[in-house]
Amino acid sequence: MKSFVYTGLPMRVVFGAGSVKQLGAELDRLGVKRALLLCTPGRAESARAVAKGLPIAGVFDRVVMHTPLALAEEARKVATELKADCCIAIGGGSTIGFGKAIALTSGMPVIAVPTTYSGSEMTTIWGISKENSKQTGRDPKVLPKAVIYDPELTLDLPANISAASGMNAIAHCVEALYAHDGNPIVSLMAEEGIRALSAALPKIIIEGMDLSARTDALYGSWLAGCTISTTSVALHHKLCHVLGGFGLPHAETHSIVLPHAMQYNRDAADEAMKRVARAIEAVDAPRGMYELEQRLGLPMKLADIGLKKDDLERAARIASDAPYPNPRKVEYAPVLELLQHAYEGRRP
Ligand code: NAD
Repeated sequence: MKSFVYTGLPMRVVFGAGSVKQLGAELDRLGVKRALLLCTPGRAESARAVAKGLPIAGVFDRVVMHTPLALAEEARKVATELKADCCIAIGGGSTIGFGKAIALTSGMPVIAVPTTYSGSEMTTIWGISKENSKQTGRDPKVLPKAVIYDPELTLDLPANISAASGMNAIAHCVEALYAHDGNPIVSLMAEEGIRALSAALPKIIIEGMDLSARTDALYGSWLAGCTISTTSVALHHKLCHVLGGFGLPHAETHSIVLPHAMQYNRDAADEAMKRVARAIEAVDAPRGMYELEQRLGLPMKLADIGLKKDDLERAARIASDAPYPNPRKVEYAPVLELLQHAYEGRRP
């Protein structure tokens, strides 16, 4: 075994069906008197229902994807005007992203109630977008003080969002397995996260109300979030960040790019590929991942989610000019080829 450094983050997790009933107890534990509730417009009614009877000073229900700076500033202003002492983010990575944006400048505690599988609630990573790019960073201030995982809140997550969001979580695990600063503990979580998610997602696609599968998927997404909380991400995430800056939807982009990024790293990350293959019960990890996505009915081509062919070269250039550490050297020509394959949805 190689030497390694392992950092554990202070995380409080309340997990299980019906656990959202403990939100009041979590607010009490932090001494919260005036919480700001965050949600997307579509989830406003259910978020309000969850928070009924709790000390809510106001609701910001205009959350959108990728935390645009102007809207994040508005949310910060609302928090200040309300004299809020905590943010409760009920929703997916976008909603949690707004909580983090507020925490970043104010230090305000965040309680996250995730309703997708993005894993953002477990990380110190924040992201704010402006024009065609997204600035990201890590700051312990943005890590939620408590996370409530209640699979009952995910029962109505539509099949397509469940599948794409689940693949986003699997992508965290895959990159953690070959991260330059990975370690055996994170690898255990990563392999188990891939196993739990890849077994649960096909069941969810058939029956969204399957509480047992929903519970397993949320468990997997928790592990996935843990894996990227302290290890670095590599080429796959770099490409998705670049493509996110072009306005592509986050989770679907992860899903489409993942088998191709794995294929790029395949020979340079042999042990990681073996662990992925074992977790998804496939012979070949990149091809098995591609086939899992096909079974989930996910879009398979970047062309189908809004990328313009003319943008391929620009994306490859940005990703290879300032690469994240990656098992295989990141070079323009093979990265462009990777993107072309993802654009056309070719089988690895
Ligand atoms: P999302 O939060 O944008 O949610 C997608 C849609 O699903 C939204 O319309 C939302 O209202 C809806 N939704 C959420 N929960 C639902 C439910 N239970 N039932 C029905 N509809 C529901 O999507 P996402 O993929 O969770 O998050 C994407 C964002 O998260 C991106 O901005 C990404 O950069 C960020 N992210 C950040 C990290 C991090 O560590 N900082 C990690 C992963 C993702």
